[in-house]
Amino acid sequence: MPEPIVSATPAAPAPRPALMPLETALATLLSQAAPEPATESVSTFEADGRVLALDVVSGLTVPPHDNSSMDGYAVRSADCAVPGVELPVSQRIPAGSVGAPLAIGSVARIFTGAPIPAGADAVVMQEDVVPGNGPDQVRIGSTPSAGQWIRRAGEDVARGDVVLVRGRRLTPAALGLAASVGLDRLQVARRPRVALLSTGDELVMPGEVAPEAMKPGTIYNSNRFFMRALLARLGCEVTDLGLVADRLDATIDALRTAAVSNDLIVTTGGVSVGEEDHIRVAIESLGRLSLWSLAIKPGKPFAYGRIGAAHVTGLPGNPVSSFMTFLLLVRPFVLRLQGVEQVEPQAVSMRIDADWPRPDRRREFLRARRNAAGGLDLFPNQSSGVLTSMAWGDGVIDTPAGQPLRRGDIVRFIPFDGLLA
Ligand code: AMP
Ligand code: MG
Repeated sequence: MPEPIVSATPAAPAPRPALMPLETALATLLSQAAPEPATESVSTFEADGRVLALDVVSGLTVPPHDNSSMDGYAVRSADCAVPGVELPVSQRIPAGSVGAPLAIGSVARIFTGAPIPAGADAVVMQEDVVPGNGPDQVRIGSTPSAGQWIRRAGEDVARGDVVLVRGRRLTPAALGLAASVGLDRLQVARRPRVALLSTGDELVMPGEVAPEAMKPGTIYNSNRFFMRALLARLGCEVTDLGLVADRLDATIDALRTAAVSNDLIVTTGGVSVGEEDHIRVAIESLGRLSLWSLAIKPGKPFAYGRIGAAHVTGLPGNPVSSFMTFLLLVRPFVLRLQGVEQVEPQAVSMRIDADWPRPDRRREFLRARRNAAGGLDLFPNQSSGVLTSMAWGDGVIDTPAGQPLRRGDIVRFIPFDGLLA
């Protein structure tokens, strides 16, 4: 049966909620994450970007022995007190082998990384050495000081050191450090299972409909693409459930199904107050809604709730709003689900090289880009539908409600670099 265009008894408009400050919303969200995430063991090769679940404690000293930091000659510095002294080469110590104690009055040919032989207390780099008169004789052109060009055992890591602390996200350097203390596997938080749902009957998929065949009123689903990429970068196992029709029954069905086997459901669109917006009501009918409507721009319509054990975040449909609420709320939450302590975006102080004369009554996040003069340029169109601003910008200016900005002001800039990694 076709639905009437105007319902006989129009639904009572939802009461206008007081807009919630971002900090309150984030604190509420973070408090819902279980304190001890489930963990698994993964190969150190596969652990980039994952969150460490146990401290990494070193079972050994790194480097394990005093070793040469140069290609050259291991010497007793006392034997080389006179510049140009000629000494015999008594042995050769390449990296990976161990030499004999150094005979008094001789030097050892040595290469970078090779252990310093007993008795030697310095290395002379080969650039300072020339052949001597006899075979296997060298002339030492400099007077080495004790300890020169020697890397000391344990100068990197001491046995028993905590080299990586649980709750940190692993970076390429951290993987190398874990390997340097002998770990080929690491205990990390299990990947959060995240279901992604798009709403919007106007949406079509690139690849399914060619640009020239687009029906009037339709647009491409762009949120689905950046959402999947953002979630994947945060270590999530994403199940993309595609598009849900703008109907309450379809929305309820989709959320109920997604809640069975996911830690988190992320939806985009349909979370505002229009008759075509069903996410909020669907969450309320299946579980509990704890947040809705934030005092930020873009990104006012944002819902959070629970359906059974699953968390649900309802993000606005406008692409920039969707993207920003992801960075400001979903990202910290997904990291906290994996046990990360410091999850909030980090801001730096920078100079704005533009005016922003008409501030909003909500706290605003303005798309901006660092310029060659060390300041910030603003993208000219700050509309929440203009996705170009997100791709053009390399961060956002976090500006308080009601505060105009003047060229030269120092502002809080949140770079994307730290948020998209
Ligand atoms: P809504 O929040 O559903 O009212 O949508 C707000 C605006 O965002 C509308 O102009 C939608 O067409 C647009 N929108 C919603 N979802 C998407 C999406 N996945 N990709 C691109 N635009 C979207
Ligand atoms: Mg919609």
